[in-house]
Amino acid sequence: MTDNSKIKKVSTHISQNEGLIFEKSSPGKKAYRLAPLDVPEVDEKQALGKIARENLGNLPEVSEIEIIRHFTRLSTWNYAVDHGMYPLGSCTMKYNARVNEVVSRLDGLAGAHPYQPEQISQGSLQVLKTLSEQLVEICGMDAITLQPAAGAHGELTGILLMRAYLESKGNPRKKVLIPDSAHGTNPATAAMAGYEVENLKSNAAGMVDLPSLEAQMNEDVAGLMLTNPSTIGVFEQQIGKIAEILHSKGGLLYMDGANMNALVGKARPGDFGVDVMHLNLHKTFSTPHGGGGPGSGPVAVKKILEPFLPTPVVVEKNGKLALEYNRPRSIGRVRMFYGNFGMHIRALAYIMANGPDGLRLTTEDAVLNANYIRKKLEGVFDLPYSTPSMHEVVFSDKLQAKNGIKTGDIAKRLIDYGFHPYTVSFPMIVHGALMIEPTESESKEELDQFIEAMKAVAEEAETNPELIKNAPYNTRVSRMDETGAARKPILRWKP
Ligand SMILES: *Cc1c(COP(=O)(O)O)cnc(C)c1O
Repeated sequence: MTDNSKIKKVSTHISQNEGLIFEKSSPGKKAYRLAPLDVPEVDEKQALGKIARENLGNLPEVSEIEIIRHFTRLSTWNYAVDHGMYPLGSCTMKYNARVNEVVSRLDGLAGAHPYQPEQISQGSLQVLKTLSEQLVEICGMDAITLQPAAGAHGELTGILLMRAYLESKGNPRKKVLIPDSAHGTNPATAAMAGYEVENLKSNAAGMVDLPSLEAQMNEDVAGLMLTNPSTIGVFEQQIGKIAEILHSKGGLLYMDGANMNALVGKARPGDFGVDVMHLNLHKTFSTPHGGGGPGSGPVAVKKILEPFLPTPVVVEKNGKLALEYNRPRSIGRVRMFYGNFGMHIRALAYIMANGPDGLRLTTEDAVLNANYIRKKLEGVFDLPYSTPSMHEVVFSDKLQAKNGIKTGDIAKRLIDYGFHPYTVSFPMIVHGALMIEPTESESKEELDQFIEAMKAVAEEAETNPELIKNAPYNTRVSRMDETGAARKPILRWKP
């Protein structure tokens, strides 16, 4: 038997408390050593002239193994979808299949240059054309641009297309209607495109209130920006009627399609009256996202908006593919070259690897997983809307708040159970929201473990609220000064 009191407490290894690489620096240390010169030495200043730098600043001087260990350790501090479930609602943190990566790294594609002549870019142009056709088919639209680099960028492109179209009809109009259950980027987009934002309220089911829409729609309104399914994971069941009301007054229906992972293979926005929409390839179509990396937010449109699409557009000319720049009614370019081509390859690989049946099954699994969680946690957490859930479920902290436990506290405690938190306090129409999106990636075993963790936290909220208020305990740092981090970030190390 061991006597626990005799076990000596070890000090924390540096790998659990990694400093800055600057702090490891010592003068003269190098990560390499070269063989002695066997040619005459050239004076740097003579060779480089005025561009030779006198002072290199405070660059860290470290050995190779220090560099390797430093960055390898830091990489283990991240939580990633490759570690475990990442239930961040609205963000669709699904697993990115490795086959997408393999395809995007094929020599001919990875090595292609955007300034390469068209006759030796036929393969790349074919990728753009095929992806365009597949996305147009999935959305039930007529044409598409792959240029926008993200969802919000797609929104801006889409609203500029609406504006250009309405202008061509004689009047760009003044306002854009946005429901209170919309994603936060929607009102920002409309304002950036020069429109006044008018709030549209939701009914008790979390859907657009039709009488309000009818009352607010008039010839001053350019259109409605509708997140569908909405940020509470609810499908707008009156979508056909909504489109009719808009169209009857000459307005357009914009659909924020970032949540298309709830619809792909099941319903096509073009069929239920949408005129223009964006997709998030970095959500629905399994391309990487987060960390400010490249995304892609294609915008699909109906025929009436096609002439205004950004240039260039891939066309067929004399049996070859070509880029067409001469489009007089185009809103112009929204992104350099043809958009984030690497994302286009990955998304196409994902679509083709799954095929129509696989894509439909993916959608069904995403919705099934969200509803499984909903069913198992109903009663444990408050469910503010009883409307059926699509790809995500939104609870509130109402039951826990009576013990002083807020959604942010529950999220912090969840970290101790090994899960990335869900989305906290969003959407705004649900006070104290817990927004959970498991995606289709998760197995029943992982979902059950998540559900058990959530139940355990709910139990702790009753029996030991103080424990939750100071969580997390299993991380390198615990509660941070979030306001300070946002308002007074320290982004520079000073010697
Ligand atoms: C993620 C998201 C966006 C914004 O997409 P970005 O690529 O982050 O700009 C817009 N709308 C909805 C509904 C989203 O979920």
